[in-house]
Amino acid sequence: ATPTSIMVGTGRAAEMGVLFRKGDALQALQGVSVVAVDKTGTLTEGKPALTDLVIADGFDQAEVLRRVAAVESFSEHPIAGAIVAAAKAEGLVLPEVTGFGSVTGYGVMGTVEGARIMVGADRLMLRRKVDLGQLEQAAKDMGRAGKTPLFAAIDGKIAAAIAVSDPIKPTTKPAIDALHRMGLQVAMITGDNRAAAEAIATELGIDHVVAEVLPQGKVEALEELRKDGAKLAFVGDGINDAPALAHADVGIAVGTGTDVAIESADVVLMTGDLRGVVNAFDISARTMRNIR
Ligand code: ADP
Ligand code: MG
Repeated sequence: ATPTSIMVGTGRAAEMGVLFRKGDALQALQGVSVVAVDKTGTLTEGKPALTDLVIADGFDQAEVLRRVAAVESFSEHPIAGAIVAAAKAEGLVLPEVTGFGSVTGYGVMGTVEGARIMVGADRLMLRRKVDLGQLEQAAKDMGRAGKTPLFAAIDGKIAAAIAVSDPIKPTTKPAIDALHRMGLQVAMITGDNRAAAEAIATELGIDHVVAEVLPQGKVEALEELRKDGAKLAFVGDGINDAPALAHADVGIAVGTGTDVAIESADVVLMTGDLRGVVNAFDISARTMRNIR
């Protein structure tokens, strides 16, 4: 492609809300064979809702939700928002919390009314040696339904299994179908539970899933996908996506995401969804063929 056709291409892309921060990204996209996408906030709305609350024998539902929501009210994770909203919808008044803590990619903890509350993924419970008992099966069913299963423990005893569900954006499936028609493979990288991630991948026709990735492990996850030497584009929105955006052959930030993500990317999508990725590949192909 000539410098002029690159200028025309980036200009046309900008009109469609696709900003090429680096001109050579237009060229680099042509070598890409795998598009890896962060799940939460990119494939999904990023606004989960609490859908299931299964209480262990001997615990009271409202009491558990009240205390769990109190602890979650100190977290900025979208999951926390879902749990707090559910408690508010029940008209519960949240008690005071002391000693709040969080372990990124695992969950949160705090003391409420003298009891130590812990909420998070199964790996948090495993780490703290909490026996999941009868709730392990409930959580498995939640995951198979594409919901994110969480557990709550009170004073080291399992108290509840909680499911949150984040709706898939209506634009996601058509965009993935279009990427497939262009001969691209689509992969999902997520910190979410494996069963939930796989259920969503099946629904969307996604080719590869790397699940239960810790926030600092996304670059490694990309390398896992690169095993066959494939050139990769990575699409993400969060602070913890920044290293992967910088590391990918082409980093594509969702423009509704965080500033750090945008600054690490080669391409920025002003529309907050995957259709922008389809447009980016489309314009790249036209430009490289010198079609005006
Ligand atoms: P992602 O952005 O892909 O969802 P995260 O690393 O943010 O990945 O979260 C991974 C997992 O850690 C979540 O699916 C959840 O199980 C657990 N987790 C993180 N924050 C919280 C929280 N505030 N409350 C409960 N669980 C949490
Ligand atoms: Mg995200």
